Amino acid sequence: MSENLNPNELWDQISSRLFPQIGPITFDAFVDPLKPIGFTEDNKRLILSVPDDNASAITEKWKTELEMNFVEYATEITGRFIRPDLRTTENTDEKNSFVSAPVTSEQHIPFSQDAGLNPDYTFDKFVVGSGNENARAIAKAVAEGPGKVYNPYLIYGGVGLGKTHLMQAIGNQFAKDNPNARIKYATAEDFLNDFTNSLREGNQDNSNATALFKKTYRSLDMLLVDDIQFWAGKPQVQEEFFNTFNALTKANKQIVMTSDRYPNDIPDLQDRLKSRFEQGITSDIQKPDVQTRVAILRNLQDQNDLDIPNDVLQLIGEAVDDNVRTLEGAFHKFEAKIRFMNKPATIETAKSILAEINANKKAVVTVQRIQDVVATYYMQTVEDMKSSRRQANLVEARHVAIYLTRTMTDKSLPEIGRAFGDRDHSSISHAFNKIEEQVEKESSIKELIQDLAETIKNG
Ligand code: ADP
Ligand code: MG
Repeated sequence: MSENLNPNELWDQISSRLFPQIGPITFDAFVDPLKPIGFTEDNKRLILSVPDDNASAITEKWKTELEMNFVEYATEITGRFIRPDLRTTENTDEKNSFVSAPVTSEQHIPFSQDAGLNPDYTFDKFVVGSGNENARAIAKAVAEGPGKVYNPYLIYGGVGLGKTHLMQAIGNQFAKDNPNARIKYATAEDFLNDFTNSLREGNQDNSNATALFKKTYRSLDMLLVDDIQFWAGKPQVQEEFFNTFNALTKANKQIVMTSDRYPNDIPDLQDRLKSRFEQGITSDIQKPDVQTRVAILRNLQDQNDLDIPNDVLQLIGEAVDDNVRTLEGAFHKFEAKIRFMNKPATIETAKSILAEINANKKAVVTVQRIQDVVATYYMQTVEDMKSSRRQANLVEARHVAIYLTRTMTDKSLPEIGRAFGDRDHSSISHAFNKIEEQVEKESSIKELIQDLAETIKNG
């Protein structure tokens, strides 16, 4: 997911988090004028161009204040440690390198090398523990003898446990051993999009887009498909994958897939695909135990040149037990405290980030929760709120609940529509706009919204 963001997407997400934090005036002066240009070679910095007028004030503001926020948000979004790299056109050195070799966002999308592989996802960087040692052993064997022993290979496991990392490690190692090999990493969604685009283009101009799609996927030496549970209930793409699958395996080309569910538990997965998958091998990745979690933290520490006492790593490792992604997030939060807030690498600092993480957890807000709180406040039922009744008090409750859902969750307009009695997305955005206007004009509404939001979060 987020690790595949391109510079524009990452910048959009970071700036939209900065906005509520710093307010519109600071935002317009110091954030809005910046443009994302790309990532640095090592993928550790997002290059932002600063317009010449006001450049020094902007740079100063970033150094003293905004960089911290940036790093924190970038870490939350990507799980990696990314800093901003502000560049002015006045700066001659950089000017030269820019003019002669403009960094287009295309070139610098971090993981869009031909194969689509993230160079960081290697076996070297994959910490082995009881939950993943089998999966890793088979992955190694597949990387060394692709198409021979285990084909297809399906890696199965919960979110954030290292499926994508392990799958790409296979690709990276195979690419290293065989520089000419044709390898493609695609999410199941990419595959679906490529397929539907090829159909559409083929229909529009009678081009050979469909043939090209088939050729691209069927002439590979190794195909890595991530998160195949995405194809649940999508028979057309399953059909196409079935054909791709057959073409590749017949030619002894390796297929690796990941899924967060067993094929048998993927709704509406065609039987013939299931039986094809059974011809190969499946291994699962389990949650890491404490020891492995601490080893992962130690690994991150070494990679990031930090020196953190063992008892601190132990404390974080014991506390953060959901998955490796959240563990990495905790580590980077800790790292940001040390590097940018000059906090010591102590138990105290670790406890403070753990408290923050727990606070965030508590703040996970569901639509159900919002509806309950708002309905109670207006003395209505949730059912009535979802209905089409138009009594004034009820309408207001509905609008307020929709507004809160839009601001407190990441649900899309159509999703919100479905959660509110199957309304279409235009009536949702109408409701939202209405309340938003009132919030701006009337302080009583603003306060009401804030109170309700507090109640929802603390419930
Ligand atoms: P999934 O695909 O299962 O959701 P990912 O492969 O994206 O999970 O892993 C989430 C994050 O955790 C990645 O940054 C990955 O590098 C890291 N990670 C997962 N497992 C390990 C491990 N065993 N050793 C080191 N890093 C890991
Ligand atoms: Mg994944």
